[in-house]
Amino acid sequence: MTEKCGNCNEAVTGDFCNSCGQARELKKIDRNYVIQELLSLVGYENGFIFTFRELLVNPGEVIREYITRNRQKITKPITFLILTSVIYTLISHYFKTDIPYNDQLKKDYGNSSVFEIMNWVQNNYGYSNLLLILPITCWTRLLFRKSNYNFYETCVVICFVMAEGMLLFSLESILNGLFPGMIVINETVTFILAFFYIGWGIGQFYGKKIKNYFKAFFAYSLGMITFQIIVIVVGITYDMIMKG
Ligand SMILES: [Zn+2]
Repeated sequence: MTEKCGNCNEAVTGDFCNSCGQARELKKIDRNYVIQELLSLVGYENGFIFTFRELLVNPGEVIREYITRNRQKITKPITFLILTSVIYTLISHYFKTDIPYNDQLKKDYGNSSVFEIMNWVQNNYGYSNLLLILPITCWTRLLFRKSNYNFYETCVVICFVMAEGMLLFSLESILNGLFPGMIVINETVTFILAFFYIGWGIGQFYGKKIKNYFKAFFAYSLGMITFQIIVIVVGITYDMIMKG
């Protein structure tokens, strides 16, 4: 009698299922198993720390390898995004500083919902980054439409660089905690850092050409502008409805 795979029910002859790759005999869940699972999540081998380091040094190439050749090496994009969001949240709560209302924004938008949203966006670049994923993906897909990557593959690229960018934005909270008198400078420094990182990562993914880096920065900027336009339209509409 042949054994059946516990996952896909195909007949298994060797140590692994030919059809889905699951091991014939599962390892017992014990202390080792738990330690292994934790290590593989955090891990230096192919877990979070490894992914963070690889994405920092060589973002475009690492993501291209993930999409085209090897999905085992680095953490999956959505998992990575969730982990970086958690870390960003923890760091920004730990170094919490009271950020004053932005006077320039107040001048531009007055006491409107647009001002409230813009102010939130500026003080929470990390989270705003997540909202930027969709518009930036659309622009990137449009500007690099001659490449063979579809919308979802493009979205994975943007997900990875934005997730890594989120960790760079955590730097702002740390700097604000260390140098509370320099909030504007801290914000500017981290923003420039993350902006260049994200543009550089996207450009590198499509091949190391000057043209691609330009298109990448363009896609990122257009994504941000599109997002701001949406915020302004939504804010004004909301105020019009609420105030009659
Ligand atoms: Zn199977």
